Formats: sequence, C-alpha cells, structure tokens
Amino acid sequence: MTAKKTLRLILGDQLNERHSWFKRPEANVVYVLMEVRQETDYVKHHIQKVAGFFAAMRAFARRLEEAGHSVRYLCLDDPANQHNFEDNINHIIKKEKIARFEYLLPDEYRLDQQLNDLASRLPVASAVYDTEHFLTTRSDLKQHFKGKKRFLMESFYRQMRKQYNVLMDGKKPVGGKWNFDQSNRNRYDGAVPIPAPKVFKNDVTDIAALITAAGIKTMGEIKPKAFIWPINRKQALQILNEFLDKRLPHFGTYQDAMTTESWSLFHARISFALNTKMLGPMEVIEASLRRASGNKKPSVGIEQLEGFIRQILGWREYVRGIYWAHMPAYETSNYLNQRVDLPDFYWTADTRLKCLQAAIGQSLEHAYAHHIQRLMVTGNFALLAGVHPDQIDAWYLGIYIDAIQWVEIVNTRGMSQFADGGIVATKPYISSANYIHKMSDYCGQCHYDHKSKTGDRACPFNSLYWDFLDRHRTKLAKNPRIGMMYRTWDRMKAENRKALKKQARSYRNHLNDL
Ligand SMILES: Cc1cc2nc3c(=O)[nH]c(=O)nc-3n(C[C@H](O)[C@H](O)[C@H](O)COP(=O)(O)OP(=O)(O)OC[C@H]3O[C@@H](n4cnc5c(N)ncnc54)[C@H](O)[C@@H]3O)c2cc1C
Ligand code: SF4
Repeated sequence: MTAKKTLRLILGDQLNERHSWFKRPEANVVYVLMEVRQETDYVKHHIQKVAGFFAAMRAFARRLEEAGHSVRYLCLDDPANQHNFEDNINHIIKKEKIARFEYLLPDEYRLDQQLNDLASRLPVASAVYDTEHFLTTRSDLKQHFKGKKRFLMESFYRQMRKQYNVLMDGKKPVGGKWNFDQSNRNRYDGAVPIPAPKVFKNDVTDIAALITAAGIKTMGEIKPKAFIWPINRKQALQILNEFLDKRLPHFGTYQDAMTTESWSLFHARISFALNTKMLGPMEVIEASLRRASGNKKPSVGIEQLEGFIRQILGWREYVRGIYWAHMPAYETSNYLNQRVDLPDFYWTADTRLKCLQAAIGQSLEHAYAHHIQRLMVTGNFALLAGVHPDQIDAWYLGIYIDAIQWVEIVNTRGMSQFADGGIVATKPYISSANYIHKMSDYCGQCHYDHKSKTGDRACPFNSLYWDFLDRHRTKLAKNPRIGMMYRTWDRMKAENRKALKKQARSYRNHLNDL
C-alpha cells in the first residue's frame, strides 16, 4: 500500500531554508511554489520586486530539489497554471491523489483569510504551521498592551530586550541606556567614506521577459543581466556580512542622514532577505552582537549596535504586532480625512523638488529608499499635501523590493501618514524644509529655496507645513507634542498667515507642476 501523500504550499515570502519542514526529505511529501497573477496584480509592483520574488522562489525550489525534496513549481507561463492558489491546489490534489494539505501561516491578512477559507473547502484534511521566523506570535503585542490606550514601541522593545536577553547587563541595559537614538541624528559630513553598496549580478533575463510577455503592469527599471538583490540564502548572508564589516560601525551615526552621494549610505539593505525569510531576525541580531564583540576594525560602538538591533528586535516585530491587532480596519483608516490624488511625479520622479526627485528616482532605479527618505521625504510630502492614504499606501506597497503588507501598511498609514489617529506615532511626522536641509545635501541642489516661505521659489514644504497644521487644527491642536506649533502659528501676524495659506493653496492646486 502506498503512503498517503501530503501537499505543502510555500508562499513567495516563506523561503526559510532552516524551517523544520525541510530537515529531511519525506517520500510522501510534495512541496508546491507558484508564480500566480493574483500576486502580481493586486497592486502595481516594481519590476524588480516581481522579478526578485520569482528569482528567489526558483532558487529556493532548486535548493529543495537538490536536497532530495519533491517539488512542483508552477511558472508564470505554465499552461496548467490557473493563477490563483485555490484552483492550482485543487488541480494538484486531484492529479496527484493528495490526501492532506499543509501550509505555513501567511503574514498578510488577505492571504490568511484566503488560505483559511480555501482549506475549509478542500476535499482533503488540512493543517497550518508556524513559519518559525518571527520572535513574537501574532497576538503577543495585543497581550503586551492589554488594557492600555497607547501601543508605544519603546515599552515593547524593552520587554523584548529582557525576554531575549539582548544587550542586557543583568537587569540593566548595556551602556546604561535603553535607547541611543539621540546619537543617531547626524548629517552626513564626509568624515567616513561611504562604501559602495554590495550588489549582485544575478541574471534574471528569462523572468523579466516572462513578466513583460504576460502583460503584467509594473513600474520602475531593471537591469535583467545584473539584478542587484540577493536571491538565495548564500547571497543574503553575503550582504549581511558586508553590512556588519563595513556599515554597522557607522550605522547609528548616519541612520537619519540623506545624501545624493549614495542611495543607501550605511543601511543594511537586508529587508528583502528578511521579509522573504532567507534570513532570520535572531540570526541577524546574533551576528551583529558577535561582530561588535570581536576585535575586527573598525570597532562597533554601543550606539551603533543598539540603533541597529532596535530596528529588528523592536520596530520590525512591533509593526507586525500592530498589524495583527488592528487588521482589517487598519487597511481603510484615514483619520485626517485626506482626499488629494497622489502627484504624478511619484511614478516618474519628474519634479523640481530635489529631495523628492532623489528619493523617488532611486526608488524607481533600485526599488529601494532608506527609512528617512520614506518617512521624511516621500511620506512627509504626501501627508502635507493631503494625499489620500489609499493612494500613498498602494504606492509604497508597490515600489519597494521589501514591501509586504504587514510591514508596509503600519509604516505607511501609521508611522508616516497618521491615518490610524496615533496608534503608532504620538504625533504626525511632518517637517518644513528645515529638517530636510539639516539632514541632507538636497536643498543646495534644488530649484526651490529652503529658506523662503512665500514667493516663486519658496520651498513648498514650508507653506504646506503650516497649512497642514491649520487644516487639521481640530484633530491635532490638543496633541501635547505639537501644541507648541499652534502657539507659534497663532502668534504670527495675520498677513503672514494669510500669505502662507495662499502660497500653500497655490501649490496644492498645482501639485503636478512642482
Ligand atoms: C512609509 C514607510 C514605508 C515602509 N515600508 C516598508 C516595507 O514595505 N517593508 C519593510 O521591510 N520596511 C518598510 N519600512 C521600514 C524601513 O524603511 C525599511 O525596513 C528599511 O528602509 C529597509 O532597508 P534596510 O534593510 O537597509 O534597513 P536598515 O535601516 O538597515 O534597518 C535594518 C532592518 O531593520 C528593519 N527595520 C528598520 N526600520 C523598520 C521599520 N520602521 N519597520 C519595520 N522594520 C524596520 C528592517 O527589517 C531592516 O531591514 C517603511 C518605512 C516607511 C517610513
Ligand atoms: S528646498 Fe525644499 S523641495 Fe528643495 S530639496 Fe530642500 S526641502 Fe526639498
């Protein structure tokens, strides 16, 4: 009698080679990965994002086969591919006489619902397993903040440090402080040369041609013969190690800096590898701790190390917890009732605003911008201009190589757009040109004048900033963290306030011409 066969589904962001499923090949287990239109088409993605996921999935399937596992891989152009999970799974179950279906917990609400429903309708038994990737469960954060009004990252992060005994000296934080954020706010001053970003030369010509031939709508550019992102675990570890050696020693210092000299400065560029699970968060944290305690040069100070670990042990797990605590309502949140269309230049980088041109331009070129560009340039501008969160959300979800909804949406609607009304951020992240000028070299190369508030060449961030505060007064004036700005606004001469409003109105009426 032949053993009953099990079909196991692996999603494109579940490429965790170290998962217990893959410990040894089992004769009666078949793995399936599929390139489906339901995933390429739910938003307009960057071409590098689609190609990167497919290339990494193909490499993963090859690795499994080499290790003796049985794999079915449905390519985009496979005639049997019906381009949605349910039809493909049903087809395989029938064709291969499958007796059981198993899958791993999806990280996206949309897929979680779909697979849950699908499993309940299948003609065979099913089961779902953990991805063995995250450091918290979906509901840990809800538990942590039970009965509290605010979900502040900092208290969660401290709890995680204690729980995992990371950067702890007994019960106290190493270095005497939990957070070295104050030391992480330097402008790039050229004191340390920025190492050229580690890039790969993966050949994804076939995949890029397939995407084009299928008529999938994408944005951005790709060099198919020299695809720069890691597509397997070996490359993911290489990019991590290069970061630890060359960038971590200066990571914290220049974490918030922006410059036209480099598109990634001292950032790790490991988000794609992490979010596809080619790398695990704890192995990244442990590797950074090992690098810092070794005697390699340059040495890694606590303010660099803590700044990096906070992003992974703190922010990354925290946004995932917020996601599961607040979906699906989070997806449509628009606390400030913003309604304006996203300016066209978000799709082309064709604008005279240098900061936006640089951030969007590199995003179209590399499917990447670092955190402060996302938060304080593209996000800040959209918020000040009054863009509808649905539109800016779809843009962030499409354009970045690392964009998967559980991490993208909390950063976008919560941290960047204040659309959740303050669950994540204690105040809207807005600034005038002053901040961008302080943290970058953009303003010196700009058509607009960062110091002017009104007039032809006045930087739009300046009048839009005051106009934003004025427009949302009823919702924001009581916020203690920005109340002071309202007092400044109220103290301004009436004619100055009027001129700022007029200037902002004219910019808001002509966003596409800026
Ligand atoms: C509007 C907006 C949208 C964003 N969308 C995404 C997204 O779709 N996917 C995504 O992974 N990150 C997103 N982020 C967070 C952050 O910008 C990226 O994780 C980071 O830029 C990735 O580049 P890196 O690997 O070089 O990061 P580094 O700066 O080197 O940080 C190291 C790692 O820390 C983690 N991390 C850092 N900041 C955050 C954060 N705020 N939330 C969660 N994890 C964090 C990431 O895994 C990152 O790889 C967004 C931020 C903003 C403001
Ligand atoms: S002057 Fe204004 S628009 Fe130009 S780069 Fe500076 S902040 Fe951006």
